[in-house]
Amino acid sequence: MQKFYVLGTCAGISDIGFTLSGVLQHNDKCLLVDTGEGMQVLKQLRLSGIKISNIHDVFISHKHIDHLLGLIPFIRKVLTSIKTGEYEGVLNIYCDIEIKEIVDYIIKATFQDLFQELYKEKIKFFILEDGQEYNVIGYKMRILDTYSKASVQFGFEIILEDNKRLFYLGDVPCATQNYERVKNADWVLHEAFSISPKNKYTELIKSHHSNVADVCKYMNQLNVKNLVLWHTLDDNIETRKERFLTEGKEYFDGNLYVPDDLEVIDLDV
Ligand SMILES: [Zn+2]
Repeated sequence: MQKFYVLGTCAGISDIGFTLSGVLQHNDKCLLVDTGEGMQVLKQLRLSGIKISNIHDVFISHKHIDHLLGLIPFIRKVLTSIKTGEYEGVLNIYCDIEIKEIVDYIIKATFQDLFQELYKEKIKFFILEDGQEYNVIGYKMRILDTYSKASVQFGFEIILEDNKRLFYLGDVPCATQNYERVKNADWVLHEAFSISPKNKYTELIKSHHSNVADVCKYMNQLNVKNLVLWHTLDDNIETRKERFLTEGKEYFDGNLYVPDDLEVIDLDV
């Protein structure tokens, strides 16, 4: 059984939907993929029916708040659950060194004394580098540099059951350096900021994010089978799925997904 729980689909800051976060589930094991921008990650997990005690691995792509800041309440919840006997073992966090330093600082400065020692003992960091491999939730995970211009940012390739390959590419367009690796992928989770190449944030985002047509065009050229578009603007979110699918299907021949927050994607299709 392998599923992807979409916790949040919005980019940057949003008071409408939750920001970027999801859970890859393999049988009873879960990998939390980015954590959105705050406390709501705990609510999204509860609404998805995912137990904190089943999450022992967290991947953080980069330090921007819409991906990172949910990690602080998540760690707090894990430490509290250890104290109450509801969480066993350690929590592994896969991230860049700067993220570890940021998290260390916030926790040292803001957590009660009773959590400080437990944090050092039970939270284990793995510092990412391109090409590194880990075994997580029963899968092989290979790290890839996204070549983001905005900050150090990593994504991953995970080998699912039946040797299917799933890619998470953070919140930037797939770099040309990664085309060979992504080619013929079974699943790609890719950002798609908006439909129009021009929007009110065009100047702000420059080349950091994509529009639907561009992503669909090059993912089609790379022969990707299932493409999930997320990390979007939160305007007109009620019609987002329909608008993005209509636009994307013009350019993409495989299966296209534009999930809402709290949707679940079956990876065995
Ligand atoms: Zn983002």
